Amino acid sequence: MKKEVLEVQSEAIFRMGEFLRNEGFVELLPVIISPLTDPLNHSVYDAKIPYGNGYYSLTKSMIFHKQLALREYPKIFIFSPNVRLETEDKKHTGRHLIEFVQLDLEVKDATREDILDLVERLLVYTMQKLEEKFGAFIKSVNPNFHIPKTPFERVKYLEAKEKLGSDFELLLSKEKGDPFFLIDIPIEEREFYDRLSDDGKTLVDMDLIYPYGFGEGMSGGEREYELDRIIMRMKYKNMNLEDWKWYLEEVKKGIPKSAGCGIGIERFVRFVLNLPSVKDSRLFAKLPGEIAL
Ligand code: AMP
Ligand code: MG
Repeated sequence: MKKEVLEVQSEAIFRMGEFLRNEGFVELLPVIISPLTDPLNHSVYDAKIPYGNGYYSLTKSMIFHKQLALREYPKIFIFSPNVRLETEDKKHTGRHLIEFVQLDLEVKDATREDILDLVERLLVYTMQKLEEKFGAFIKSVNPNFHIPKTPFERVKYLEAKEKLGSDFELLLSKEKGDPFFLIDIPIEEREFYDRLSDDGKTLVDMDLIYPYGFGEGMSGGEREYELDRIIMRMKYKNMNLEDWKWYLEEVKKGIPKSAGCGIGIERFVRFVLNLPSVKDSRLFAKLPGEIAL
């Protein structure tokens, strides 16, 4: 691996953290094992460790711990190592690892719009700092590199799908020259915890899509926080409420209203440096379907 890739990755992590601290966030330590983790909206192999009378799951994302942490502090972030034992069909996407890191952040009482604005500024700030320090190297490997203009374009999921067909996300990613947000994602495409819109069909959520075909780099949204709505959403997904008692107990005690997102670090570095795959953006990369160091 080129040593410059590691320098860019390290600087990106530093500058993202710096930006968020300047915005009043605190950094939390990651949670690696818990009986409670993200159910995800796609199937992965189970990563569970039996322990005592129960088990621990390896963290797929810290979504629920973020919600609980907001009781203590209103703006939080974590460089969160996630283990998702993705299936072999994802081996050649260029976007999937089975161990990756996301910059996971959450803000009490925020709206989706607050998070869109924050993410735009975070990405622009980080890219500017990377350009200042590594501009010559970045442009030598990525002739398309430029600082995107804000606000990023907002594209409505269902409108784009109707116009361009089911491959719309990749088509738009290839066609655009700047990152854009895909918003109002349909309920069946997402987990239960992103907030349902008044239309009852789409969520108050978003993905960030990188241009030049690099695809999704961030997902997030406003969250459900009221017990009756959460139970309704779990039932919609045919989830067994008994399996979710850890979470439901906490929701009964009250969790704050919030919005937030997670930005994949490997995918961000891949995008900035125009790398063929996320496996080129970190050391000890593990592709789906492989055993690797
Ligand atoms: P999600 O909320 O599941 O979309 O995850 C948040 C972000 O983490 C995504 O937008 C990606 O940038 C990143 N991510 C998710 N899954 C993977 C994976 N298997 N490999 C690398 N990055 C991932
Ligand atoms: Mg996503």
